[in-house]
Amino acid sequence: MTKIELTRIPFIKNAFKSRYPQLAVFIVMLIGYIFAILAGLIGTPVGSHNFSIVFVWIAWWAILILVAVPFFGRGWCAICPIPLPGEWLQRGAILTPPDKRPKWLNLRVPKMFRNIWLQNISFLLLALFSSVLLTTPNITGIILAAMLFTAIGLGAIFERRAFCRYLCPVGGFIGLYSQAAPIELRIKDKQVCVTCEGKPCYNGSSIGFGCPWDVFPGGLTKNTYCGLCMECIRTCPHDNIAVNLRPFSADLAKPSTRMDEAFKAFIMLGSAIIYAGVLLGPWGTFKDAAYNVGSSAWFMYAGIFLSIIFGILPGFFTLGLLGTKGNATLKHRFASLSITLIPLGLMFWVAFSLSFVLTNASYILASLSDPLGLGWNLFGTANTAWQPMLTSILAPAQALALVGGLIWSARTAQKAANEVKVSPIPVIVYCFIATSIMLWLLL
Ligand code: SF4
Ligand code: SF4
Ligand code: SF4
Repeated sequence: MTKIELTRIPFIKNAFKSRYPQLAVFIVMLIGYIFAILAGLIGTPVGSHNFSIVFVWIAWWAILILVAVPFFGRGWCAICPIPLPGEWLQRGAILTPPDKRPKWLNLRVPKMFRNIWLQNISFLLLALFSSVLLTTPNITGIILAAMLFTAIGLGAIFERRAFCRYLCPVGGFIGLYSQAAPIELRIKDKQVCVTCEGKPCYNGSSIGFGCPWDVFPGGLTKNTYCGLCMECIRTCPHDNIAVNLRPFSADLAKPSTRMDEAFKAFIMLGSAIIYAGVLLGPWGTFKDAAYNVGSSAWFMYAGIFLSIIFGILPGFFTLGLLGTKGNATLKHRFASLSITLIPLGLMFWVAFSLSFVLTNASYILASLSDPLGLGWNLFGTANTAWQPMLTSILAPAQALALVGGLIWSARTAQKAANEVKVSPIPVIVYCFIATSIMLWLLL
């Protein structure tokens, strides 16, 4: 399948070019986000009846991991409310550039932080405390507020969206998996960019802002760091930006050589396996350890968690690579072939989330009518009884996702191995073993 340029369709192009449709969505999202913070802080402490838990960790998570990321890549970032207040303050404007810009520090993020290690750490911190975060409304409220205020603070100190680009725990994995999505934003003609004066898509102009994600659209080759904010479509004076429909996993044909991105793939793969074991598995001891934050059992759980992610998973992966021969260094092979774990990890998360979401989805109706757990019944659904949904299709759907992920990752391994001229077999065996473990944990 070749690419289809969606921005050739006038309706889509106009919707992206105009700032108003996106602004309307932003306002709704921001109101919802602030309401989630307030619900977490002042609503019922019963997680299953609090809007912040039900809408953030069940409804939003379901949409994000089952639909938005696999099909739209960074589509969520295009409408995410978290960076908005900080960005509006930083710009001194909501829509178009003002005549006089506010005097913020506007510093460049130091070079040592211009990678996704901080995002890896912030995700791991949330993951280690997730059992409490996912069930305690006021902790969720505090974390949501902290993300909003951190984005504002970083926007006052650094240029562009430093929070999104280097710190957001969610943005890191969306960026990783967005490489597999069938949507991309790219330039149409490289030559037009070469002769373009001022590069307004990156530097900004009187009609629009420079790329908030610190990306030069003319150099985009993968989705990871493009937040699909659509600003460059509005700013480019040569109409040289396109949004394309493309085959799934198009970016995975160009393996990365960055260790921060390679470890992001291991972190996400390992977290999915550990969550499946701890939250859905039959081992009460593990679950208790995960929930008893600060206890010695929790420290042991945290130690095992980190050992799996930074020791066991990359260790066996490296052992497999030792058996391959090629001109590339082991580090290069490790980073390049870790791209295989992107489709595998994405499908692990899909399979895990199906279980989690379908088990808890019935809380959404109840919470819609009584979002703070104060006994309201706004839409007459407050008393909807809890019951798992679509139980008969859960196991087949999970098996399909996992086996599909294995096939997808095997094809990715073949292409990546071809790039570094080694055999893909050890990596495919690794993916097979990981998938078997996940099948065993979930089914
Ligand atoms: S990186 Fe994080 S904060 Fe930024 S837009 Fe994406 S999800 Fe939102
Ligand atoms: S403004 Fe348009 S033509 Fe100029 S460098 Fe950016 S994408 Fe290329
Ligand atoms: S490349 Fe364009 S769409 Fe992507 S983040 Fe930058 S300005 Fe936004």
